[in-house]
Amino acid sequence: MHTPTLTILAALLTALVTAVLYAVWHFNKNIPGLRLWMLSFLCSLVFTVSLLLRGWLPEVVGVVISQGVVALGAYLCLLAGRSYMGLRPFSHLYAVAGIGALLALSVVFTLVYPHLGMRFVLMGVGSGVCYLLTARTLAVGGIHRVPARYLLAGVLCLHGLFVLLRPALFALGGAVPDGVLEGGLMASVSQFVLLEAIVATVLLSFGALILTNEFITSELRHLAEVDPLTSVFNRRAFFTLLDKAVSSTQRTHMPLPVLVLDLDHFKTINDTWGHRAGDDVLRHFVDLALRCLRKEDVMGRLGGEEFAIFLPNAGAQGARAVAERLRRLVESHPAVAGARSIPLTVSIGIALCGPGDAASAALQRADEAMYLAKQRGRNRVEMSGSAEPDTASAAVATVA
Ligand code: GH3
Ligand code: MG
Ligand code: MG
Repeated sequence: MHTPTLTILAALLTALVTAVLYAVWHFNKNIPGLRLWMLSFLCSLVFTVSLLLRGWLPEVVGVVISQGVVALGAYLCLLAGRSYMGLRPFSHLYAVAGIGALLALSVVFTLVYPHLGMRFVLMGVGSGVCYLLTARTLAVGGIHRVPARYLLAGVLCLHGLFVLLRPALFALGGAVPDGVLEGGLMASVSQFVLLEAIVATVLLSFGALILTNEFITSELRHLAEVDPLTSVFNRRAFFTLLDKAVSSTQRTHMPLPVLVLDLDHFKTINDTWGHRAGDDVLRHFVDLALRCLRKEDVMGRLGGEEFAIFLPNAGAQGARAVAERLRRLVESHPAVAGARSIPLTVSIGIALCGPGDAASAALQRADEAMYLAKQRGRNRVEMSGSAEPDTASAAVATVA
């Protein structure tokens, strides 16, 4: 295809992609990095338009606009990647200094020592490095967990390498220091470069949309699985995870300890200190509980002031130790609401979910054990199936 036709096609496509990204950003303003990606495509649009207007602009003006927007677009792409990954932005001072130096050199290689090749090198170095850094920023988290992110990183890496090597391509094409990009091999090279830009624009815009989808999906999953007050799993998600853990117990034949925890006299806390202080107490309790758990342990809120935990690989003794540690931690750490200190205790029931056991049955037994702890005076741990009261807890209950 003829080079000007390809340039017009690239301009139209970039305008379309920028408009689509603008619309997506307009309706999803909370997606990190999306606005910056949209602005990056806007820079590409200005670049393609500046190519079309080259004939009408003084050469140095065209060069400054092209170099400026290409560098700015690549830098915005890097900022978008960092923003999406939740990383701090760079100090813009370096970018301003870098782009300023690039523009000054471009003017020198246009007016003082006219050299087209050097201008290609300048354009390639700044933007190529930015694309490679963006690829590096996105390629984390595991390819199996976030494949879309790695796909985009791969495209960015290839595009970055191509942009870096582009000056060599023009040199092969026979660009004389200040040659015109017309005729023979040079025209083919120009067309190939424009084609690559078009393909990269399409792939990168799909990449930005895929990341948008990835973000929205993970937000929805979070909303569906996590209790908004305490940030532990909600009842439904906890049951799903417990079912999975019980299934793997059938394979390993290791009994899975399940704990049901209920805060003591929580209604009184609400009545005395207010519902908001009650909410603070629930959050405080979860903070304390998480301090006692390992990474593989799972905690969920069953409802109100009732929680459940399962402890893979803990065993009966390990579960009892964790429950007792948690009970003592809660007892010795009153919640703080403003200047007030709110004393708190918890009753805990433990049951073991053995091979062939159903998750709901084990949870039911843990619940019954918890009610036994309530009957036996609260602030204690009871194990399902053990007739004797837990001696450590019994001592505490007697003192209380
Ligand atoms: P027990 O020691 O027998 O467990 O007594 P309790 O007062 O803890 O139990 P009860 O079931 O009588 O009261 C539970 C209270 O928890 C009643 C309800 O208002 C309160 N509650 C449930 N969900 C929330 C919540 O999200 N925030 C607050 N602040 N209170 C809640
Ligand atoms: Mg209670
Ligand atoms: Mg309750």
